Amino acid sequence: MAKSILDSAEIGVPCPGCGHETKKSVGWLRSHDELVCSGCGETIRLDDEGFRAGLDSADKAMGDFKRNLARLNKRR
Ligand SMILES: [Zn+2]
Repeated sequence: MAKSILDSAEIGVPCPGCGHETKKSVGWLRSHDELVCSGCGETIRLDDEGFRAGLDSADKAMGDFKRNLARLNKRR
C-alpha cells in the first residue's frame, strides 16, 4: 500500500453515541476495523466501504471525510 503523507496525521473520529472525537492517526485507521470511543467506550465500526472510500478521499478533503464518517455511523 502506498504510504500517504496523511498516515501520520491525527484525525478525530466522531462517536455516534456520545459525540466525543477519538483521535487516531490515518495510518492506524487504515489498519484497524474498529476503534473504541475514548469518551464512552462504545465500539465504532470502521469496516464500511464508505469509510474506506472516505479514507482515500481524506488525502484530498479531510472535512468531507469526517462528514462521511459521521453519516455512516448514524446508519447503524
Ligand atoms: Zn462515545
